[in-house]
Amino acid sequence: MADHEPGQYIGVRLTINGELVYRHYSLSDTPNGKSYRISIKREEQGQVSRHFHDVLQPGDILELLPPAGDLTLIEGDEPLLLASGGVGQTPLLPMARHALSLGRQVIYLHAALDADHQAFKGELEALKSEYPQHLKAVRIHERGNEAEHIGRIDRSLLAHYLPDLKTRCYFVGPQGFMTAINSALSELGVDEDRRHFEHFGPSRPLEAA
Ligand SMILES: Cc1cc2nc3c(=O)[nH]c(=O)nc-3n(C[C@H](O)[C@H](O)[C@H](O)COP(=O)(O)OP(=O)(O)OC[C@H]3O[C@@H](n4cnc5c(N)ncnc54)[C@H](O)[C@@H]3O)c2cc1C
Repeated sequence: MADHEPGQYIGVRLTINGELVYRHYSLSDTPNGKSYRISIKREEQGQVSRHFHDVLQPGDILELLPPAGDLTLIEGDEPLLLASGGVGQTPLLPMARHALSLGRQVIYLHAALDADHQAFKGELEALKSEYPQHLKAVRIHERGNEAEHIGRIDRSLLAHYLPDLKTRCYFVGPQGFMTAINSALSELGVDEDRRHFEHFGPSRPLEAA
């Protein structure tokens, strides 16, 4: 197995109906030297995500490109704020696990439509029990009554959970989500070099959205 850092992704190369296609998927678990895990949201019209969900079977062989990506943990002892929207959780979950194993404080904000659309519930609960002093995990749902907050991640919610201005902030999600978080953190005084994000689609400047 090629080694990887928590937060990185791999490429997959598939031939679907005679067409060669490539996609990237974040490695959603910490490195273990034996296997990779990817976690894919099925897009209703998506070519590759539907192929994974509807066609591929256990035992099928996939062609992979080596792990890559710059969204990785920057060493230090500052607290971390990891904010994800929807499937953007995939790189941040292994980063949280790794940071916690190093004794760092992690604020984990996850936004989803509702409880039915929230992935990795069990893993987060397990992490919370393992690191009760270091992990604060907060769910933000647009509807329902299970989450700590109903609505969206906005400036006041970030202000409430941001430990201090030295905090390293990582955020991944839909373009509008990242634009909103980036500007809210900027307004709160978090320097640009402490704001880290990754696009799951074609990259665009956050201000342009
Ligand atoms: C660094 C990186 C990491 C990523 N990590 C993950 C991850 O961990 N998990 C994950 O699920 N994804 C991840 N992605 C996204 C992933 O690479 C794919 O973009 C995603 O799976 C959609 O691919 P697709 O082939 O299914 O959709 P595509 O066919 O490429 O379509 C893209 C979008 O357009 C919509 N669409 C397509 N055709 C139509 C149509 N005719 N009408 C209307 N809408 C349409 C689809 O619904 C979909 O939302 C990552 C991307 C990057 C760049």
